[in-house]
Amino acid sequence: MKRLSILGSTGSIGKSTLSIVEQFPQRYSVAALACGRNVDEAFAQAVRWHPKIVSMASEELAGELTARLRQTGVSEIHVVYGSEGTVACSTLPEADFVVSAIVGVAGLEATHAAILAGKPVGLANKECMVAAGEILTQAARRRNVPILPIDSEHNAVHQCMRVGAHSEVKTIWLTASGGPFRQAPLEQFESITPEQALKHPTWVMGRRITVDSATLLNKGLEVIEACRLFDVQPSQVRVTVHPQSTVHSLVEYVDGSILAQISVTDMRLPILYALAYPERPASSLTFDLATLRHLDFEEPDFARFPCLRLAFEAAEKGGAHCIALNAADEVAVEAFLERRIPFMGIPRTIEKVLASTPEAHPATIAEVLAADRETRQMARALLA
Ligand code: MG
Repeated sequence: MKRLSILGSTGSIGKSTLSIVEQFPQRYSVAALACGRNVDEAFAQAVRWHPKIVSMASEELAGELTARLRQTGVSEIHVVYGSEGTVACSTLPEADFVVSAIVGVAGLEATHAAILAGKPVGLANKECMVAAGEILTQAARRRNVPILPIDSEHNAVHQCMRVGAHSEVKTIWLTASGGPFRQAPLEQFESITPEQALKHPTWVMGRRITVDSATLLNKGLEVIEACRLFDVQPSQVRVTVHPQSTVHSLVEYVDGSILAQISVTDMRLPILYALAYPERPASSLTFDLATLRHLDFEEPDFARFPCLRLAFEAAEKGGAHCIALNAADEVAVEAFLERRIPFMGIPRTIEKVLASTPEAHPATIAEVLAADRETRQMARALLA
């Protein structure tokens, strides 16, 4: 029985993880839940799963949850809060595996703490790898702790990498759906609205990541994530636009063989893979290959999607530039959703912020978070 600590349990990856626990009660149980701000959902999850601890975003929300649990007659669940609360969840002695699914750098400290505590991590939070990938992977290597990617592309790469040696890998091919504007002409890009950008053709996701998929910045973050997770150079990672989202990614070996991972477009599969690794439990998440008619692949257009170019440039520089790419994008996407800047204002903002970011390599999580805050201030000042 693997006892899980789920960071970000009320988000979409968190809920999918709990649905896996539901399907495999003989394999998994819940030890800790880090919930954030949604007290109703936190309450429902606590009553259903009876974890040892639950963490909320603030003291006030923790008090609210405690009161509701008491009213229901549940007194044995310990309710904590804040970033210390999240760390308490990720380092809980009773937890055997940590699912890191808090969006943004908010989950960074707790993910790092989990690795230092020797716990295998299923990583759904790509911002962690982008902002602090060097620190996290080094810590994991030193402690021999596996980091199992839940991001569907990296999960696919992880699977394809199991059949060859690291030195035999030539290129990692990350597939991109291309987003809703794959075929839109360049002159329309300035007038793209938040409503249009929030419609993703194949995946249902949160607001920022949906906009990031439309600008291909999300794919750019994944390029950096791949470099860190699999210890390869940016020149060894390529992006291919694959509108069907059926091939989740590919690994090309030096002998010319290219291995692909194909499966249903459902996040529960990468989650199950990460939880069960190195085993493969039988599941109902099947894909009917007989119905497959087309697999299209095309080169991404760097002119229409400048975010992708900016990400490759940041990947080359590493450290502070990767932190700045992620932080500047988050601020710019927020401004776009509030209609303060146009769609192409997103890459323009990121480019300006990157140009004023000095090359640096933060060595601690505290330094990473400080660089992240500085970039956000710089981006906000720029947009004011
Ligand atoms: Mg992805």
